[in-house]
Formats: sequence, structure tokens, C-alpha cells
Amino acid sequence: MTTVTPLLTDAVRIRDTLLAGNRFLLTSHARPDGDSLGSQLCLAAALRQLGKEVRIVNADPVPESYAFLPDASTVEVAESVQDTLDAVVVLECSSLDRTGVGGLDAGTVLNIDHHLGNAMYGAVNWHDVSACACAELVSNLVDALGAELTPAMATHLYVAILTDTGSFRHANITDRTFEICRRIAATGANPAMIAAQVYNNGSIGRLRATGMLLGQMRLEHSNQIAVLTLTDAMLAEAACAPDDLEGVVNMPLAARDVQAVIFLKESDGQLRVSLRSKDAVDIRQVAVSYGGGGHRNASGFTVDDPTATTRQDVIDRVAGVIPQP
Ligand code: AMP
Ligand code: MN
Repeated sequence: MTTVTPLLTDAVRIRDTLLAGNRFLLTSHARPDGDSLGSQLCLAAALRQLGKEVRIVNADPVPESYAFLPDASTVEVAESVQDTLDAVVVLECSSLDRTGVGGLDAGTVLNIDHHLGNAMYGAVNWHDVSACACAELVSNLVDALGAELTPAMATHLYVAILTDTGSFRHANITDRTFEICRRIAATGANPAMIAAQVYNNGSIGRLRATGMLLGQMRLEHSNQIAVLTLTDAMLAEAACAPDDLEGVVNMPLAARDVQAVIFLKESDGQLRVSLRSKDAVDIRQVAVSYGGGGHRNASGFTVDDPTATTRQDVIDRVAGVIPQP
């Protein structure tokens, strides 16, 4: 007797819904990153190969560093959608709110994600926290749909995996990660070119802002916590676009003593907080305590009162999750 796991059932239901329908909308979280864009663009390409009509709609535009992705120009930006669709596929997004796009729940929602704490908001929820990136699930789905992995789609998947594993450094890597990457390389996609596009293609403004951020970094709790604070004034002085600092939050982890990074960005009266940590530190607990979420070593949240008290409270809560020897 064969046993079918619930996970497999969900994946199969999603495959069958996609094979049966003709018109789909794909979306992901606001301020899209490498995994959200790679996952959406790859699945869109697979569905188009099968003759389906596909729109990708995001709340925010494709950041400059990902504009080289094949079909990146097909991503539409909108606050809400009103369309007749067979299904909406939400990729790499822990709740429907985080898409920043309204009107998605008018029809069937298919939820494909790997974030801990996914709200299971879909008619079908394919949720696998063991996946190194949502793109790992998309790679399986492409095969299940019977689509062919083209070099363009391999590029989408590679960007997603490269960025979501922190350039193959995070604990979310498994043997499956490298199996997918082996297939990606076999299609002729070029990992060195892709890495250069993602990492060696930034603006001078980004470089200047990075220097300012690190120059003003505060170290707390015997150098175990690095606090980076970004203001609009710094962005203006450095001539850096607000979305041009992806990855900078990880830089203090390069120091042996630093166990966690708090990146504070004040904007429009809100405080957006990005948290990063080394493997032993479960930083997600802190994000969850403020109503946010993410992963064990990379999470975030937003609060409405950007006061000095709030900032100190964040530092104290982070100190509370660092294991003491
Ligand atoms: P970021 O620091 O914005 O790069 O986000 C790091 C991780 O935390 C990503 O996986 C995000 O999806 C997640 N995250 C950030 N902000 C939130 C939030 N407000 N709610 C849930 N997850 C979040
Ligand atoms: Mn991801």
C-alpha cells in the first residue's frame, strides 16, 4: 500500500488546479526579493510553456539588481487586482496581507511557501519549511506540471536559491539544494554571471550608504549585537535608493563576536526592523513577539512608534535570545 503524505497531496492538488485552468495570477510579498521574483518568474514561464495565460502582479517594482532576470519586465505593479482568474498563486508569502495587493481573495488562492508561521490562507496550502527557498518547491512543481526547465527558468531558480541561502551559507541548505543546482548548471545557466549580476552590479550610492551605516554602527552586549540605523537623510546624502541596500544587514555577522544584527529603518513614522543572526540564535522569536515573522536566522517586523524606548526594547529582546556560555 502506498501512503500519500499531506504535503504531497497539497502539491498534487496545486498541480491539478494549474493543469485544469487557463488563466492565473501570480504574486508574492511586497518589496520582492530574489526568491519571490525567481519563484514567480519561473512558475510563470512554466505555465506559459503549457499555453496558460499568466500575469505577475506585485505591490512593489522589481529592484534594479534583479532587473536582469529573464521576463522581469513582465512584472506588473498594482495595489489591487480585479480580474477573472482560475486561481491566484501566492508564492513565498506568509500571509495574504503581506502581498500588499488587494482583491486576491475574490477567487481560489493557492499558497506555496517555506516560511515558518505561514498563516495557511489558501484554498490549498503547500507549506514546506524544509525547502531552502520557495524556488525549491517551484522546481518540483515545474517537473510535476511536465514543463521543461529552460536556461531562463534555471536562471530564475538559481537567483532564488543563491539569495535565500545567503550565497550558500545558511542552515536551510540540504542535499536537495545542490541537486537542483546541478540541474540548473546542466541547462547551461551561468552561475558566475548570475552571481556577478546580483552582487557586483550595485550603485555607488549603495556603497556610500553602506560605509555610512557601518561607520555609525553601534555594538551592544559585549559586541554580540550590532545595531545599524538608516535614516532618509543618510539615503539622500549617499544618493542611494531605499531598496538598494539588500544584504547589507548581513555584513556585521562577518565579525566573530557579532551574534545578531538589528537593522532599523525609520520611514513615514514607522520603524521597519530587519533581524539577522548566526545559527545558534533564534532571532525569529523576537520578530514574532512584535507581530512579524520570517526565518530562524532572518526575520523582520514593523512597529508604529519609532521611539528610543522601542529601539532599546528591541535590543533587550535580542539580547534575551542569545544563548550565554
Ligand atoms: P527582511 O529583513 O525584510 O529582509 O526580511 C527577512 C525575513 O523576514 C523574510 O523572510 C521576510 O519575509 C520576513 N519578514 C520581514 N518582515 C516581516 C513581517 N512584518 N511579517 C512577517 N515576516 C516578515
Ligand atoms: Mn524565501
